[in-house]
Amino acid sequence: MNQDQILDLKTDLVNELTNSGLSRRDALKLLGLVPFMLSATPSVVSAKSQSSASANILIVGGGAAGCTVANFISKNIPNATITIIEPDENSIKYQPGQTMIGGGLWKSEDILKDTKDFLPKDAKWIKDIVVEFNPDNNLVKTKNSGKLSYDFLICATGLELNFEGIEGISKDIIGTNGVGSIYLFSGAEKTWGEISKFVNSATPDKVALFSEPAGSIKCGGAPKKIAFLTSARLREAKKQATLNFRTNKGNFFGTKVYNDSTIKYMNDRNIYFNFKSTLVSVDVGSKTATFKDENEGLNKINYDFIHIVPPMRTVKAVRENSDLANEKGWVDVDKFSTIHKKYDNIFAIGDNSSLPTSKTGAAIREQYKVLGENLISRIDGKELKAKYDGYTACPLITDIGRVMMAEFNYQNEPAPSLPFLDPAKERWIWWLVKAYLLKPMYFYGMLKARA
Ligand SMILES: Cc1cc2nc3c(=O)[nH]c(=O)nc-3n(C[C@H](O)[C@H](O)[C@H](O)COP(=O)(O)OP(=O)(O)OC[C@H]3O[C@@H](n4cnc5c(N)ncnc54)[C@H](O)[C@@H]3O)c2cc1C
Repeated sequence: MNQDQILDLKTDLVNELTNSGLSRRDALKLLGLVPFMLSATPSVVSAKSQSSASANILIVGGGAAGCTVANFISKNIPNATITIIEPDENSIKYQPGQTMIGGGLWKSEDILKDTKDFLPKDAKWIKDIVVEFNPDNNLVKTKNSGKLSYDFLICATGLELNFEGIEGISKDIIGTNGVGSIYLFSGAEKTWGEISKFVNSATPDKVALFSEPAGSIKCGGAPKKIAFLTSARLREAKKQATLNFRTNKGNFFGTKVYNDSTIKYMNDRNIYFNFKSTLVSVDVGSKTATFKDENEGLNKINYDFIHIVPPMRTVKAVRENSDLANEKGWVDVDKFSTIHKKYDNIFAIGDNSSLPTSKTGAAIREQYKVLGENLISRIDGKELKAKYDGYTACPLITDIGRVMMAEFNYQNEPAPSLPFLDPAKERWIWWLVKAYLLKPMYFYGMLKARA
């Protein structure tokens, strides 16, 4: 970034921070952390190259990843023709904020922006969906706009929430009868409604269940965060209840120090937890959830509130295309270069990719620089140099006012932005970063490909 771009970014961040209630002085103090956070992964090559070549680049999906890549290309490959296929006019909503909404801290409008204000002006936006990929012929078929060809294709179609994968659950049930899910944008405020009812009527024998499904999900931390926020709300109301977190997984984090700390914080806050326990069905009428527990068979539990995390998968056009996707349905790319294993003019980024790391916006913030650098090398016929090391981050809310910033890479090694702080400790400073800094950094740093 040149000096003007840094100043622009700083101005946008200060405006956003003061709009969210911080004084200008506090906003400037918090901004002091930005340089550290931006240099989190020195092994990732930041975008230094540019190309003057012309190329027809098609981006499918204009959410967090697609929008960021579009802005990168617009800046660094100025003669490229960029086309984005995205049906949603609010596709770049700040999904991490859905956790804050579910905990009663933010409102839906706090995370909504118009996509048109974030896509590059020189890109063509087609409001449609791709129904078929034809990588052998460099073509995609859309629902309403015919076929489109490309020189280079970027797949950024995100994930689909499969609520129906749990018997008795559908989207319509979220926000009724003690059922919540922060994974659904329209369900996040309703989830807070159900959690507040639970907290208001809490007694020690009342039960809140928090589930986590099999398979990869976006932000594996979010199911725990909403359990911690519910526990915080109970303490705030000076009430007691039974909180039980049940996950299909065998641990909370693959990184030992983060896993150990999460176990400690769950114990400190009296959240009982069970590993290898998978939610299979819910009887909403009788408020009974059935879990399949390893070695114990089916376990029926009565609840007063249940938080559902649906199983997730790529969209149909991706997962049913065996040329594009691997056997699990992810766009099958090399984990270091982000380039497709079979088609060297196809890239994938974000939640739909097979990159074997935790699926987060923080990961996209590093992936787009590698993808962009390698795209330029491909266009110019040069050697590929950029390598993604799997960096991802989970700001694990453990209390209102406390966050453990779990940052790690493909090796599950801690990759802390501030190496002089113990990364496995909950801190107020990380709460400030989560509650104030990350959202403006997402909208005005990452999405605009400035950071
Ligand atoms: C509750 C929750 C909490 C989270 N917390 C955090 C956090 O604390 N930190 C963090 O870093 N990340 C967090 N995340 C994860 C982060 O938001 C996602 O990883 C990120 O948004 C993924 O971006 P994406 O572009 O891959 O997918 P998306 O942003 O979902 O975009 C995919 C886009 O593709 C479009 N699309 C789909 N199919 C087609 C098609 N066939 N044709 C054309 N377009 C299509 C969709 O309309 C969509 O706009 C959280 C997510 C949730 C839901």
